[in-house]
Amino acid sequence: MLKIENYINGELCEPLSNLYLDNFDPSTGEVYSLIPDSSGDDVNLAVEAAKKAFPGWSKKSAEQRHDYLIKIAALIERDLDSLAEVESVDNGKPKTLAKAVDIPRAVSNFKFYATAAMHTATEAHETVGQAINYTLRQPLGVVGCISPWNLPLYLFTWKIAPALAAGCCVVAKPSEITPMTAYLLSKLCIEAGLPAGVLNIIHGLGAKAGNAIVAHKDVKAISFTGGTKTGQDIARIAAPMFKKLSLELGGKNPNIIFADCDYEETLKTTVLSSFSNQGQICLCGSRIFVERPLYERFKTDFIEKVSQLKIGDPLISQTNIGAVVSKQHLEKVLSYIDLAKEEGGKILLGGKAVKLGDRCANGWFIEPTIIENLAHDCRTNQEEIFGAVVTITPFDAEKEVLNYANSVEYGLSATVWTENLSRAHRIAERLESGIIWVNSWLLRDLRTPFGGMKQSGVGREGGFEALRFFTEEKNVCIKINYGG
Ligand code: NDP
Repeated sequence: MLKIENYINGELCEPLSNLYLDNFDPSTGEVYSLIPDSSGDDVNLAVEAAKKAFPGWSKKSAEQRHDYLIKIAALIERDLDSLAEVESVDNGKPKTLAKAVDIPRAVSNFKFYATAAMHTATEAHETVGQAINYTLRQPLGVVGCISPWNLPLYLFTWKIAPALAAGCCVVAKPSEITPMTAYLLSKLCIEAGLPAGVLNIIHGLGAKAGNAIVAHKDVKAISFTGGTKTGQDIARIAAPMFKKLSLELGGKNPNIIFADCDYEETLKTTVLSSFSNQGQICLCGSRIFVERPLYERFKTDFIEKVSQLKIGDPLISQTNIGAVVSKQHLEKVLSYIDLAKEEGGKILLGGKAVKLGDRCANGWFIEPTIIENLAHDCRTNQEEIFGAVVTITPFDAEKEVLNYANSVEYGLSATVWTENLSRAHRIAERLESGIIWVNSWLLRDLRTPFGGMKQSGVGREGGFEALRFFTEEKNVCIKINYGG
């Protein structure tokens, strides 16, 4: 059986303990590879390698770093098809989705930050008659990047690329549930000739290997994407060491639909924003609020459209809904459907696990589920489910729907559908979300600030924000003798 290896100091290697964890294919429910169960000892080796590489890497010109990152982007692009298949097997997502979204985005992440680093500028402040100040932004040193399982290579590279472009050396850990494309990335980095130690990839459990990265005194910053509870644990460890933290956490995003929306576009996109990647995208809109005059029509058409989605083998091109990432996650999603029923929710569609035939007979599949008749403040409407479950609720007034939308402890993203421009601006201004889409969803421009407010995180990724995160600012004040 294939054994995944760590990538430390430019080489692939076994974990020091020689212990391995099972890696499952969610569409078959079977173990198909083994992952290093790395410990603090492996992390120590990785940090030492990164420290050794840092002086050389940080002193390279932006153009030299660009050349390495562009080479890696080209290699990912070359392997687009095989990486998409691997991502699909590892995560359960439809291969078509991995090929259209996940892997191309990993390419874009490297391209974007390779070039962005060549366009940075720093400020100068003149203290008139006395001095000139200028700002230096210097790479932090060794940094940690920890990513989740839902968009494995996409989010892993979204962190690694800016860190490397900024001149930092990286110790990174993908989710132990979806490690395979990160492993293949390490092979591509070797092929690209990335200098030893610049990027190190450690596989293993969050509570063990991930924790060791966060706790290591020589890791200067942590860029983390994952659940809010894990983010809190990380903040607790990192805060006394005054580490820089970027935390992209959970969400419970509202999708607000006004009666004057472009109906067909709203309907089509809401199916995607509800159920893409089995609802396992942090930006999915899981609470759908529909203005009452449109409610019954929308409900009927939405159920009809969602019932046409094909649940199936993720490797088959007709499949819209693949497997849920793990048995444990499947059980969590099903438990929320039970909770919704207990809270008085009416299941309009779905609600059950699905048994498929052939090679997927033991896979973890669930019907896309639509629930109505729930109060905005019940647990189902307040807690993150992170699966193919949405609730729909009618509303009568703007103020009322804003209250519903903002009533959760999260504040990641929101979607608003209306043809009324003033209303769109007004609602966007009042929503407590870091990312707001009007008449669209998941329309991404990598230059824009990305992240959430409230319990959805701290800091912003994207654009120059991410490059700045991986640097330390230094002000140099030069007194000028104007009397000479
Ligand atoms: P987790 O928080 O469970 O895990 C995220 C990563 O952190 C994994 O690599 C995990 O390793 C690791 N980890 C777990 N515990 C620790 C620890 N104590 N110290 C250091 N690292 C640790 O999240 P999931 O993987 O379950 O991902 C789903 C969550 O991610 C959802 O809440 C979702 O909303 C959020 N998310 C947020 C996004 C955003 O941009 N805001 C984007 C995508 C997802 P391991 O897997 O081995 O446990």
